[in-house]
Amino acid sequence: MPSPPEDCLFCRLVADGDHVYAGDGFVAIRDINPIAETHLLVLPERHIDTFREIGAFSDDEAGRMLRFVAKTASASGLEDYKVLVNVGEGGGQTVFHLHWHVLGGRFDTGKLARALDLDGAA
Ligand code: AMP
Ligand code: ZN
Repeated sequence: MPSPPEDCLFCRLVADGDHVYAGDGFVAIRDINPIAETHLLVLPERHIDTFREIGAFSDDEAGRMLRFVAKTASASGLEDYKVLVNVGEGGGQTVFHLHWHVLGGRFDTGKLARALDLDGAA
């Protein structure tokens, strides 16, 4: 497993960010530029660049990550919501530390279209 890039923004936020929820190797933070009423990001503490490298996680770790995503949504009071992972530049990813967007409530549709990179999507 290569060591994470020293300049990784999300590694820094894992270490000393404002965590809404934390535990079990994962943290949830508020997105700085929310595109929905509730917009959280779930980050694994362990750095991998993208969802493409999910094979680096054990089945147990991957399963715990999915449960943490679901717990983040329910603890935020969300019952109906979206979970989004942008994969690679062509998929609209801008920060290269795996993260799950948890989106609920009213959406800003213009920002949503940009976040989904609908013009340049893979
Ligand atoms: P993505 O485009 O899928 O890579 O998502 C990256 C997300 O990180 C975007 O929604 C940004 O608004 C968000 N973001 C960037 N910098 C920060 C930060 N310092 N704190 C919280 N969220 C951030
Ligand atoms: Zn990182």
